[in-house]
This record gives sequence, C-alpha cells and structure tokens, in this order.
Amino acid sequence: MGSAVIRRDKPSVLVVRGREDVTRLLSQTPLFFAYRGPHGDWFKEVAERHAESAEWHLLPPAESKAATRRELLTGGFIRLRDTVVVDQSRCIWCGLCAKSCPASAFEYVEGKTLRVKYEVCIDCGLCNAVCPVAAVKMPSLPDGYLADLIKTAPGPLKFICDYAFQDGEEEGVRVKCIAAVPRQYLYLAAARHGEARAHCFRGETCPLWPAVERWGAGLRREGEDFVAQAERSPLQPGDRWHTWMLGAAVGMPVGVVKVAEGCTLCGACVNVCPTNALTLRGHELRLTPALCVACGLCVDKCPEKVMTVELAPVPNPYETKTLFRDQPARCRLCGRELPYTESMARRVAQRLRESRLPSDHVYLCEECRLKSSPA
Ligand code: SF4
Ligand code: SF4
Ligand code: SF4
Repeated sequence: MGSAVIRRDKPSVLVVRGREDVTRLLSQTPLFFAYRGPHGDWFKEVAERHAESAEWHLLPPAESKAATRRELLTGGFIRLRDTVVVDQSRCIWCGLCAKSCPASAFEYVEGKTLRVKYEVCIDCGLCNAVCPVAAVKMPSLPDGYLADLIKTAPGPLKFICDYAFQDGEEEGVRVKCIAAVPRQYLYLAAARHGEARAHCFRGETCPLWPAVERWGAGLRREGEDFVAQAERSPLQPGDRWHTWMLGAAVGMPVGVVKVAEGCTLCGACVNVCPTNALTLRGHELRLTPALCVACGLCVDKCPEKVMTVELAPVPNPYETKTLFRDQPARCRLCGRELPYTESMARRVAQRLRESRLPSDHVYLCEECRLKSSPA
C-alpha cells in the first residue's frame, strides 16, 4: 500500500527566464523559492540549500482539509499556506507584530499570549518583517536564505512580489509580499551594491497594500519599486537581531526617542524597554539608538507622557546619547542632595498642591524636615 504517509507539500526551487509561464508550476505548490533573471545558477545553489531545511511543517494547511481516502492511498499532499508562524518562546514582548498587523490578526497579551488568528490573517508577512528577534517567522522566507542571497548576490538584489513573479515582466527574487522582508536585510543588501529594491506589482489595488504602505515608510519610491540605499560595506548579514544591529550601521532607520521637559527620571521607560536601548545612569536617561526598534512601549508607559519615538537614520547609532539630564534636588535649608531629581520634586510638589496638601517638605532633607516640623 504505497507510502501511506501524508506528504505535506514542500518548498521547491524555481528558476525562470523571460516571460516563461509559471502558473502551472505555482498551482502545484504555493511554497517555493523562486527567481527570474540572468543569474539562475547562483540562485539555485543558494535556494536548494535552504529548501531542504525550510520549516514547512510548521505551516497551517491552506484550507481546512482532512486527508481524503485517495490521498491516504496515493500519498497525496495537503496544500500549505504561505504565511507566518510564531514561536512564543523567542518573544521579547515588544508588541510590534500586533501593532503593525493591518488585519488585527494577533491575539496578543503582553507577557502571556501571542497567537495569529489565521482566520483573519491576510498572509502579508509584515509581522515577520517587524519582529526584531524572529519570534515571528515566514518559512518561505527564512533569515538564513536571505542572508546567503545577500552575501553571494552577483549584483544589486531585487525582491519581487508573487504577483510580479506570475506576471513575468520583473526580474528578481520572488517573495510572497515585499512587506514580509525584514528591512535590515534590504539595507545589508543595499550596502553590498549601493542599493537594493523591492517591487510591489499591484500597488494600492492589492489587498496586501496596507502592509506594504507601513513597511515602505521612509524608503525611496521609484515607480513600483521601493529603494533602499546604504553606505557601501562588506558587513555580513546573519540572524534577525544581528542583522538589525548591522543595518543601523549602514544607515537603516532606527528608533529616535525624544524626551520633553517634565521627565522625572522615574525609570518606567527603562523597565519596559524590550531591547535595553534605554538606560538610567545617575541623573541621566540615555538611549543607544541601534538597539531601539521603535516599538513605542516606553512612550506608552511613560507616566508623564513626555516621550516620542520615530524611525530615522542616525549617524553613529551605537553611541549612547543622553535623552534627558536632571540635577538632584537639594534641601532648601542645608543644601544637601536629596534622593530624587529636581523634576521629580517639582512633579510631586505639584501633585500635592493639586490635592491641597502641604508640599514644602518635598524640598527638605529628613533632618531639616524634623527640625522644621512643629514640636
Ligand atoms: S501575516 Fe500580516 S495579516 Fe497575518 S498576522 Fe502577520 S501582519 Fe497580520
Ligand atoms: S514583534 Fe516579535 S518580539 Fe515583538 S511581540 Fe511580536 S513576536 Fe514578540
Ligand atoms: S527605547 Fe522605547 S521605542 Fe525603543 S525599543 Fe525601547 S521601549 Fe521600544
């Protein structure tokens, strides 16, 4: 009775030239590493190495389908969905996946639950692109595969979406949607040859466009191409976080946090930062931009609502920058340093006044407080 094992379809490698019709091949499996262009041998060598180790077994079936008797007998296969999978054990709870998802397809409880609601998910892969630690992955776009393509590419790399690949005009490496490509890999690809491109075939008419729009913010547009440019550098991409750190060095936008007047150096932001980008040193709040993924957790948790964050290229991104500096508060009577900052004292005193409570003692050291309190 033949191999009764249900064979789930497996990524295959597709290299085409010109407008060769690929629809028949695509109907056989949605999972493939594919390329159109003049460097087929290069691509085949890299892709075949990764097709073998791809984690296709993690993927949900494309349609809820039990194996038929015929499949049982003939060793048929179940069509897999080219989408994302999550590995909660790797998650640092930055929340970027759930915040970025254009379909609100995440069940997300910080520190507890991380699940993709596949019934809602549109398979855009954006959550894969924004996850700094590959706790969200896309088996049809493994990081190792991207890194090897970048390290070995004979010329500027171009990623083209599935629609463009099927259309047959554009040359490049096929991805399900360009929004699935972690941008740090695009920047490392750009650093190899000066620029790298990602081609979105259908633009605003595509159901996945909301994901591309978010993904492409800050990249130069040239027609249907999103273009990343970077300083030339032989830096070698690696895993997701390692490549993020390198991307920062070649001009990839990283988190730029700003702190306005009113910060009390309470440290709430430092405690929630999932990448340790923020530190408190003495009476200074500091940021290492290369570590900031602009998740916005610090902004959300800041009790004084004085923080903002945006993505932007930063010169010397590994250099720790002071975001806010304050002086220690001093006793108004003896001048001794108090165990909190000027702004904290100001804030506490203000709150006490708002509650019509005495506030002068905030600016006194313990000794002077005792001396000045009525016997
Ligand atoms: S693949 Fe796209 S739609 Fe699905 S969970 Fe991720 S971001 Fe949301
Ligand atoms: S983006 Fe990645 S690390 Fe951040 S919450 Fe989502 S899965 Fe976790
Ligand atoms: S500094 Fe703020 S925005 Fe940046 S990673 Fe930390 S918590 Fe997120």
